[in-house]
Amino acid sequence: MTTNSPARWAQATLVVLLALLPAAGAPADQDGHHDHAPDAEHLLGFSAENSLRQRQLEARFAAQLEAGNLSRWMGRLSARPHHVGSSQGGRNVEFMARQFAYWGFETEIEEFEVLFPTPILRTLKLLEPVSFTAELSEGPIRGDSTSTVTQERLPPFNAYSIDGDVTGELVYVNYGVPADYEILARRGVEVEGKIVIARYGGSWRGIKPKVAAQHGAIGCILYSDPRDDGYWQGDTYPVGPYRPAQGAQSGSVADMPLFPGDPLTPFVGAKPGVERLARQEASTLTKIPVLPISYADARPLMEQLGGPVAPAAWRGGLPLTYHLGPGPAKVHLTVAFDWRLVTAKNVIARLRGAQRPDEWIVRGNHHDAWTFGAKDPVSGLVAMLEEARAVGNLTKTGWRPRRTIVYAAWDAEEPGLLGSTEWVEEHATELGAKVAVYVNSDSNGRGFLAVGGSHSLEAFINQVARDVEDPQKQIPVIERARAARILHGSAAEREAARQRLDLAIGALGSGSDYSPFLQHLGIASLNLGFRGESGGGIYHSVYDSFDHYQRFGDPGFAYGVTLAQTAGRAVLRLAQAEVLPFEFTAFARSVSTYVDELRTLLDTTREDYAELNRKLDEGVFEAASDPTETFVAPRRKGSVPELDLAPLDTAVERLSASAERYLPLLGEVATRPLSAATRNRVNRQVAASERALTRQEGLPGRPWYRHHIYAPGFYTGYGVKTIPGVREAIEQGDWSLAAAQIPLAAAVLQRYADRIDRAADLLASEIPDPAAVKSPD
Ligand SMILES: [Zn+2]
Repeated sequence: MTTNSPARWAQATLVVLLALLPAAGAPADQDGHHDHAPDAEHLLGFSAENSLRQRQLEARFAAQLEAGNLSRWMGRLSARPHHVGSSQGGRNVEFMARQFAYWGFETEIEEFEVLFPTPILRTLKLLEPVSFTAELSEGPIRGDSTSTVTQERLPPFNAYSIDGDVTGELVYVNYGVPADYEILARRGVEVEGKIVIARYGGSWRGIKPKVAAQHGAIGCILYSDPRDDGYWQGDTYPVGPYRPAQGAQSGSVADMPLFPGDPLTPFVGAKPGVERLARQEASTLTKIPVLPISYADARPLMEQLGGPVAPAAWRGGLPLTYHLGPGPAKVHLTVAFDWRLVTAKNVIARLRGAQRPDEWIVRGNHHDAWTFGAKDPVSGLVAMLEEARAVGNLTKTGWRPRRTIVYAAWDAEEPGLLGSTEWVEEHATELGAKVAVYVNSDSNGRGFLAVGGSHSLEAFINQVARDVEDPQKQIPVIERARAARILHGSAAEREAARQRLDLAIGALGSGSDYSPFLQHLGIASLNLGFRGESGGGIYHSVYDSFDHYQRFGDPGFAYGVTLAQTAGRAVLRLAQAEVLPFEFTAFARSVSTYVDELRTLLDTTREDYAELNRKLDEGVFEAASDPTETFVAPRRKGSVPELDLAPLDTAVERLSASAERYLPLLGEVATRPLSAATRNRVNRQVAASERALTRQEGLPGRPWYRHHIYAPGFYTGYGVKTIPGVREAIEQGDWSLAAAQIPLAAAVLQRYADRIDRAADLLASEIPDPAAVKSPD
């Protein structure tokens, strides 16, 4: 059992980390040095001398960042619609490539031929009991200059919906997640042969048509309910930042939890001439037609729904009583697409490492948008460009990075991470051998630092974020993020933020370009951004514009500069560290928590099943409040077998011991020089550590996803599932699969611990193992 071990070693870890990390908020002197003992200055993975040099390098980098560049570039890059395949997208690529080259990077544009269907027909009509034709368009808004630009503009649509022409009764399915269909079934509402209308939220959008089709629905309408995304949240655009009545959310509905990227070329780069699936064989396309609509268009449909009143939690912010249907509302939905291949263009810019050219730090942000995309993705993109300009400028005085730095501006992220995924698939062997870390950003805003990633980088990114000042509060961004968690976090987050001096980072599911790096290749990754104070309502809409961003996103681009500083310091530190700054106790602690969660999940599942069966036995299962309503009792559940989690407990115990041994050895790097040969061998072990968490066979039913600790949920989409092979088998009640997955997850953790041990042995061969040197009592 490991359930009592985390507290014991968390204590030891904290002591060592405190010795490594500068005290929070310590006053800085004129040179920016913190006022405390010199050994607290050490950067993870650097000697004392090089820590000092590194801080000087980073100060030179940070001094060059200019907000004016971000504003100018955003104005330019978001002036016209720039989705994949568009002429403005091509012009943006040319512009960025010229900039990177001018800043001193070896720059190339790498192209892929990918499937990107664009709509040629979209109609939605209410036929009964009254007639109504949906607008399906986002009109001009006063003060939003690009909202009048219509050339090459895509209307609201869901990418990778199949073509369809369907007529049927309407059913309201809330967020359209599996649990919602259980509630509908209990109320006797069938969706077989019907068209469902689901509100956005509660899951990634692609889950909604997938689950609807599994329940026999023939069409799926997605809408933005004003309660979640509209006037319920605050004043709507242009008065405030929130979604106006005619605003709709475009977005991909490909089955991304199966695999992201081009639907026709899973596992291989979509180069011209490569073998492609026929469209009929493409498993990530939807099974039924899907269309997103605004709440202005949804209201007349929802008004005509009869049947039972929707449960309280299902009611949104429209001024009507929410009913489930089916009917009497009857709708006719048609969508048809131009199913052509378009050219996706990634900009790849390299700064070759002087000492370790074959160890790469890759930094990326996508450049394509649904329409103008000032926030998504240009706010993150311009921060990355400014970061690259400042890094490039460092070379003008003769400096070269130790490791190779690669900047990437990805195309076709919006339809499903196509640019990054195809690049990763095309260069899988080389990237698997060379990339030590991938650092991602996407949209940026005002507020608090949000970090997700591999937990082996948790201590590292904490140390980086202590050196970056929040532009509003003039405290380290890490302190502001902790304060925000104590204020706004869940009970567990509040407790953790109070107890710890550092910031715990979240595990990554999916939703941006880190997925292929982390979950397909097993490259340790970070995702960075600022958020929390911008207010939004323009996500994936035509109103995501420069005008909106300047007013509500990040006026003055102070947080854009702060993102550039945070990610840039991270990239420079990763590129320069003598020993890659991976630290494993945070990973061990996180995995220990995940295993505890699995145990709790088993217990609660067992209790829930027993409770349900008891209610059925007693015949007192909750009755419908309205006696005229149909009420169908749920099916009996079987029993939950005892699952042996011991292999995972053993692996966590071992992992903790390995991580605890490695940490003080890494600390010794600060004071004792290592031979170049040892340093290189340690770096090789550490850079490949995350790879140990993958298996070539991948996860059950989705072999593209090879990481066995972090994956997007098969039924939640973007939301992460940790130890996914085991967790999802339990959630689905597939006990034999769960039993088979436990030893596989345990084995990857053991392999990971092997890598840490090898790195520790290498360090210990040159420096005395601190754990072995005991002071006499
Ligand atoms: Zn984005």
